[in-house]
This record gives sequence, structure tokens and C-alpha cells, in this order.
Amino acid sequence: MPDHKPYTVTFWGTRGSIPTPGVHTARYGGNTPCVAVEGGGGQLVILDAGTGIRALGLELVERQNGAVSAEILLSHAHWDHIQGLPHFKPFFASGNAVRIWGSRQGTTSLEAILRQQMDPAVFPVPLDALSAKLTVQQVEPGEFTIGEFRVRAMRLRHPGTTLGYRLTPSAGGPSMAYVTDNELGAGGSYDTAPGWRKEFTKFLAGADLLIHDAMYTPEELEQHRGWGHSTFVEAAALATDAGAKRLVLFHHEPEHDDGDLDTILAEARRQAKARGGSAEILAAQEGMRLTL
Ligand SMILES: [Zn+2]
Ligand SMILES: [Zn+2]
Repeated sequence: MPDHKPYTVTFWGTRGSIPTPGVHTARYGGNTPCVAVEGGGGQLVILDAGTGIRALGLELVERQNGAVSAEILLSHAHWDHIQGLPHFKPFFASGNAVRIWGSRQGTTSLEAILRQQMDPAVFPVPLDALSAKLTVQQVEPGEFTIGEFRVRAMRLRHPGTTLGYRLTPSAGGPSMAYVTDNELGAGGSYDTAPGWRKEFTKFLAGADLLIHDAMYTPEELEQHRGWGHSTFVEAAALATDAGAKRLVLFHHEPEHDDGDLDTILAEARRQAKARGGSAEILAAQEGMRLTL
């Protein structure tokens, strides 16, 4: 018996940039980022609101059999991380409560960004017309609590203000980190401190689960430096440096079909092993559920 209440991490959306439905992406998934963390005490924290959140919303409404209370933690406000929000079913019934956590972008508040997303010019239902009680909670890098989880947030190397999160049950137990849209390699000009890599490795030290951006192959990266993403090789090296126990490759490139991702996963495992890495490596698949 573990000495803590286990919690689960479920992948509802794994794809970066744009949804890629179809037979060629059916195994790893075509929905954009959404990961549900469900604590041992029942606390649900939803990481990002890509199109994967639609199916999660349906399940929540179905299984709750009463009021839904959802906490949504956004890494940043690029389309692929918020485009499922307007179709999150719990918004459309009174009695439900949804709290959205995330960073402002420059001088634009998170609430203003969400309002723009549902402006009448681009979406028929404005934010104020939602039936559920909506709270917008702006966060900064640092530490805060969501229900039964302690959350630490750190700035990532990605255009705009993008945050990586490390979640640990307040009562103790294994921790997980959600780090998508992050450029580990050289390139780009980001508003992060000079000792960023060292701090970042410390931030992730000993994580039981690391979900990390692994959008590109090393060849593809050469055309995409400064876009704010990493290769599977860089993600595996980070997992080794940080002593993470398990690495999940995430934010799949839209051009990669299931066969490509099989190859990428095998190659990531082979290279990590050759370099003495001991983390177990997986590639995020829609529907995959891990227990910590
Ligand atoms: Zn993204
Ligand atoms: Zn992004």
C-alpha cells in the first residue's frame, strides 16, 4: 500500500498548435492540450483547455450527477491551449462553478483575453452570458494552492508569458510537472533570467512525472528555433538532468502521424538509454491515464 492517496493524470488532448483529427493520428490523438489531474480527495485540476477539454466536460457533467466544480489552470493563452473553453459543457448550467487560473499577457489581464475569445464578432455566447459561476484567478510565478494540491509556477522559454507547473499533494506524495510550450535549446529571445536552465532543473528535481514539450525532431528544430518548442532529445536530457522518474513527450507536432510518433518514441528511448538516462519515457496518447 502506498503511504499516500494515489492520484491520476489523464490525457484528453496531446497535440500542439492545431487539432489533427483523422485515421493517421487516432492512436496518439488529434485534440489540442488538456490534461486532467484528479487528486486522491477528488480535487480536479484541469491543465490547459485545448479541444481535449470538450470530451472531459461531457464526462464531468455525466458523472457528477449534480453541480460541477472545475479548476482550470492555463499554461498560457495561445489558441491551442484555450480553444476548447467555449465548448466546455459545465459552463452552460447554473449551479456549476468554474475557476480559470492563468497569467496575464503583458498589460492585458487574463479576463480580458478570455472576453476577447468569446467576443460576439467571433463567438455567439459572450463570457457574461455563461450560466455557471465563473471566477478568473490571475497567477504569477511562485507558489499557490488549488484544493488539495500545492502548485509551483515557473516562467518558461516561450513567446509571451508561459508558465510551467509543478503539482504536489499538500498532504505529501509524488509530484508531477506540466511543462508544455518551452524551448530548451538555444534560440529565441525570452524574458527569463540568465541562470534559467539551472533554476528550471532545480524546479523539476526528482519529479515523479514530467510532461514536457517534445514537438520537434532535431532536424525539424533547425527550421524552428525561436518558436518556443523543444525536441524529444532535449526533453529526455532534461528528464535525466532533473532526475525525473517518468517523462511523457507532449504537444505533438501536427505533421507527425502515429507512425512518426512510434519512431520518435523509440528513438527517444534509445538515445536516453545510450546517455545513461533512467527515466521511463512515454509519448502522450489521448485517453492514457497514469496513477501516481
Ligand atoms: Zn501550444
Ligand atoms: Zn504556445
